[in-house]
Amino acid sequence: MRFTAGMTIAELLRQAPLAALDNRLLAAHVLRLSRTQLVTRSLQSITCDEARALDTAFARRLAGEPIAYILGSREFYGLSLLVTPAVLIPRADTELLVDLALERAAPGAHVADLGTGSGAIAIALARNRRDLQVTATDISAAALEVARQNAALHRVAPTFLQGHWYAPLGAATFDLIVSNPPYIVRGDPHLAQGDLPFEPIDALTDHADGLDALRRLVAGAAPHLRAGATLLLEHGYDQADAVRALLWAHGFAAVRSWTDLAGIERVSGGTRPASC
Ligand code: GLN
Repeated sequence: MRFTAGMTIAELLRQAPLAALDNRLLAAHVLRLSRTQLVTRSLQSITCDEARALDTAFARRLAGEPIAYILGSREFYGLSLLVTPAVLIPRADTELLVDLALERAAPGAHVADLGTGSGAIAIALARNRRDLQVTATDISAAALEVARQNAALHRVAPTFLQGHWYAPLGAATFDLIVSNPPYIVRGDPHLAQGDLPFEPIDALTDHADGLDALRRLVAGAAPHLRAGATLLLEHGYDQADAVRALLWAHGFAAVRSWTDLAGIERVSGGTRPASC
């Protein structure tokens, strides 16, 4: 028992075992206060139940559980999204894909987000552009349930479809297709580090060379892209050359990559020429 009834908020924050920001995030979550209120109410004491709940929350974090799963939410593109262990925790890196999609989507464009997980990309697009017709797919029913809740929370209504990559789209065609697929190589040591061991493994790795899902996404795109439409794919730090090569090999034009905030080529894409 690290925390005891009667302790003030200031005392509990001093005793808390994590980095300062994580301490405040967990304390605010358990006590149902804002981080500002933790300061303005720093002399308020905690109850028995709160002390117990704090012990549990901090023990979970100390055991390695991602803070986003303990809080049940993560900020993405300025939106607070629900996250559960059924979905990948949205990464700031992926905001690049949203920026690029928003720049490229013409008014009223039909956009598909494949492997939507928490719905982060689809919901960020729909929230920022009411004119877009957004479709979001995922193979996981549990992930789609989280995505649906996030859409309701943010009052947008993408069309959600369950299935593997292009399979649930039928004959539908789009002006823009985006995806952040699993792209970590099987056995990559990162899978055993940080938050990743707690995340859905199928959202992280293709259980192969890291390019399997990217290959399927490029190879299957043409029937679902209108002439002149764009495919944008997030990928790993060392996969840009390979993804551009795939795009060229499948007849895409204007193939290029874009760098994330860390200067790493993180998204590659191309357009489907009118003639093919
Ligand atoms: N960018 C994530 C990571 O490296 C991986 C997400 C993914 O495979 N799409 O942790």
